[in-house]
Amino acid sequence: MIQNVSIIGAGTMGRGVAFVCAFSGLSVSVQDKFEQGLDNCRSYIERQFQKSIEKGKLSWQEAEERMKQITYHQEIQPAVAEAQLVIEAVPEVMELKVEIFKELDRCAPKRAVLATNTSTMSPTEISAQTSRPDQCIALHFFNPVPKMKLIEVICGLETSEETIQRSFEFGESIGKECVKINEYPGFAVSRMNCLIGNEAMNMVMEGVGSVEDIDKAMNLGLNHPMGPLELADLVGLDTRLRNMEYLHKTLGEKYRPCPILTKYVKAGHLGRKTGRGFYTYS
Ligand code: NAD
Repeated sequence: MIQNVSIIGAGTMGRGVAFVCAFSGLSVSVQDKFEQGLDNCRSYIERQFQKSIEKGKLSWQEAEERMKQITYHQEIQPAVAEAQLVIEAVPEVMELKVEIFKELDRCAPKRAVLATNTSTMSPTEISAQTSRPDQCIALHFFNPVPKMKLIEVICGLETSEETIQRSFEFGESIGKECVKINEYPGFAVSRMNCLIGNEAMNMVMEGVGSVEDIDKAMNLGLNHPMGPLELADLVGLDTRLRNMEYLHKTLGEKYRPCPILTKYVKAGHLGRKTGRGFYTYS
């Protein structure tokens, strides 16, 4: 059973995965290249534990103990020295993920599973330059990680049955449900969701409705808990643009990123994380 998890990249997703693993009693080490990323991650995890105490999910003492099980690192080697599972959550850039996987292959224990949290990209390509493609897989978590139940488990060409089984057992041990998806760009969820979000942006551009009304229409008309534009702000518009660019390249014209999305990213309006995207946040 997996007890030691390392997270590479402590941003929107990495910190959420780190919290959920620590909450479930696992030992967690978090690595981010930037000190600021680690500081933000630490305060996020403290806030999440505080909320859990307030909701009566665990005692103050239990929260303290679990927070002590988390270590923070700027270097990869010490972060993965004890890992049984490594989950990479760095930005959606293929070259970066490939480089990180090569380093993980050098530094992580021989039996460790190496997972990527990519939303769209090929786990086969990400892991091809490692010596253990059979132990590589994509574990696609959803945002916000503490709330969202699903992990899409995406097998690369050489992913072994044992790696799939260990991944499913890990998912269950942290209270998530897994679905097994074969590798194809965008898997199941991003392939559908990116299209909905992009269409909503095209509709804003064409003047079909206001941002608020388009979100409300999906919210009340189709019972989506969150409108597609609000969701894109939560995901991060830079992350969404990278997802669209990859899907456009691999799946074709219908995934061409909406020009508004590109314009917002160029302006530095990345959604919630910068305080401005389709909405403004205080
Ligand atoms: P993010 O930009 O919020 O965080 C990325 C983190 O990686 C940052 O803290 C950054 O400092 C760090 N980083 C950058 N280069 C690094 C390096 N070389 N080594 C170590 N750390 C480095 O990104 P995110 O939204 O958390 O996305 C991460 C991954 O998860 C992407 O592949 C994305 O597609 C996927 N994903 C995102 C969402 C979402 O809603 N945001 C949902 C599911 C999956």
